[in-house]
Parts: sequence; structure tokens; C-alpha cells
Amino acid sequence: MKDYYEILGVSRDATEEEIKKRFRELAIKYHPDRNPDNKEAEEKFKEINEAYSVLSDPKKRAQYDQFGTVGDADFSANYDFGSVFEDLFEDLSSVFGDLFGDYSYKRKKRPQKGEDISINLTIDFKEAVFGAKKEIRIKRRRTCPKCNGTGADKNGIQMCPYCHGTGEIAYSQGFLSVRRVCPKCNGTGRIITKKCSECGGTGYVYDEERLQINIKQGIDDGDIIRVQGLGNKGINGGPNGDLYIYVHVKEHEFFKRKGRDIIVEVPISITQAALGTTIKVPTIWGETELTIPPGTQHGDTFILKHRGVELNGEKGKQIVKIKVIIPKKLSKRQKELLEEFAKESGETINYQDSLFKKVKNLFK
Ligand SMILES: [Zn+2]
Ligand SMILES: [Zn+2]
Repeated sequence: MKDYYEILGVSRDATEEEIKKRFRELAIKYHPDRNPDNKEAEEKFKEINEAYSVLSDPKKRAQYDQFGTVGDADFSANYDFGSVFEDLFEDLSSVFGDLFGDYSYKRKKRPQKGEDISINLTIDFKEAVFGAKKEIRIKRRRTCPKCNGTGADKNGIQMCPYCHGTGEIAYSQGFLSVRRVCPKCNGTGRIITKKCSECGGTGYVYDEERLQINIKQGIDDGDIIRVQGLGNKGINGGPNGDLYIYVHVKEHEFFKRKGRDIIVEVPISITQAALGTTIKVPTIWGETELTIPPGTQHGDTFILKHRGVELNGEKGKQIVKIKVIIPKKLSKRQKELLEEFAKESGETINYQDSLFKKVKNLFK
């Protein structure tokens, strides 16, 4: 004798909910659509259906518990698997996806959120730093008002002759009867003979809209602006989707940006570096003076506080990177002076000496 509890893997005092839950899991696992040409799975599937048909019915379950049988009643004959599956369909369709087809004729009537729209927006460095008003154009989709989303002309719609308007077809799968979305009408129950002239049969129309967008001060490359409710229109009274604006910021030839900080490279001469000087440095907030101390090296950095990008009330810094320019062309006089300088520094000064001392051991 078959032990239905064992087949479903539940205890004898399992609740209806537990039995149902377990059955769903197993039905999904062993469903023939998931196990094509697998005899074993098919047998298992029949078995769990049989067990469920008994244990899900309080009367039959009581009888089974008491007598270990449900009598000689042929449960498969009067058991309506269709109704079990009606209930299961939502679960299953989400698991099987295409196998069950999109159960869309049920879903269509529900309010649905409109799809999100995303656009790219390229702005200048300055607009990003200080904020700006930008006009954007978007195309928002909404349900065609003429056909109400059916895609059909008023007189161009017929009841589907294949499913007689129900949108579903009952299939026999061996032991089991399963309902599926009608392939002729895709579950709508209707066949379109003449397309809607407004939307060309798609069921949607597009509105092009111009919008003013406020770019807030300090926005950065790669930021995404989300505007709630400005996506495609909701379906059946559902909420609108959202609009996502992907911000791209053009590079500036002088100012480089890293978060709130601005990085610039300022060239100075070798004499300025050696002797020290005061230079003018551009910042996004205007020119400022920077004192270069004597002996400044190429690559040295100086920080200008609060000269960076302002974001949410907080300003970053400007980092000034010194680039010492070595002259490429020298006049005769300049050459003489540099040679003089070298002599004055002492012939012995040779920066490479200490370098070779450091790597000497490596070559021994
Ligand atoms: Zn239309
Ligand atoms: Zn149909």
C-alpha cells in the first residue's frame, strides 16, 4: 500500500498548508514540462498528485488515516486537477516562464507600474560644478486611447475561435489535464482582424515631452538622477514608471575632478622652483595666489582649502601639482650660466652616486 505521507514527505499530523506547500514544491520539481521524456519523473509526478488528491481533501484524508485506503473510488476519474492547477498556476508560471507561456490574460487586467525610462545627459564641467537648468526630451509610452491597448480597430476584433474566447486550452498530459494559454490568441481570447489606426496594433502611443531638469550643484560624472513618476504611464491605473537620467560630464582641459576635489597641474620654471616665487593659480572660484617655497620639486603638491567643488554645502579642496619645466632650448648665455652654476655647485655633486651605492650589492 502506498504511504501518501511518505510520498509527499510530510508528517502524519501535517497541516493542510504544509501539505499544499510540499505538493507545490514537488509538483514544480517533477512536472513533465520540466522533465521531458523522463518516465521516472512522470511516475513520481503521478504519485504526488495521487497523494495530494487524497491528503488535501479532509474527508478522503480521514478515510485514508482510518482505513489506509480511500476505498475503491477511482479518484483520478473524479478528481479535478484543473482546479488544483488553477490555484497553482501563478506559482508555476513564474517558475516555468515560457513553458507555461505568459499567463498574460490574467495579468493584463491588473494595475501595472509603467516601465522606467532611462536617458543619457551630457553636460559641461561648469554645469556640473555649479548646477544648471537643462531641457531634456523624453518619449513616454502610454496605452493607446483609441483602442484602449487592444491594438485593434473597433470592428476589427473577433472572439478567438480556437479557445472560444476563454484564452486557454485544456491539454491532456497523460494522466493529467493542464490548461495553457491559447497559442492562437495568446490568452486574450480575441483575434485582431483589423489593427488600430492610431497605434498600428501595438496598443501604445508615445508622447514626446520636453522637461526642465534642475542639475544640482556638484553633480558628478556617472551620477544618476531619478525622477519619480516620469517614466512610461502606468497600465490599468497603475503608477507611472520612473525616469533615470545618466549624467555624463565633459572633461575640462585644465581642471580635473575627483569627488569634491579639483586637481590641477601648474607648470613653473626651474628657477622659480629653485628660488621660490608667488604664482597665480586658477581655481573654479577664481584666481588665487600660491607661494612656491625655494627648493620646490617637480611633482610636489600644494593644497588650496575650500577651493574645490561644493556639494551639499561642503566644499572640497584644490590640489595643485607642480610641474617643473626643463628648458629644451638654451641660448649660448644660458648655457654658460648653467655650466657656471654646475661649477659653483661643485663638480663632485653627482646625484647618481648615491643611487649606484644603493644598488651596488645587487651586482656583486
Ligand atoms: Zn490603438
Ligand atoms: Zn484563443
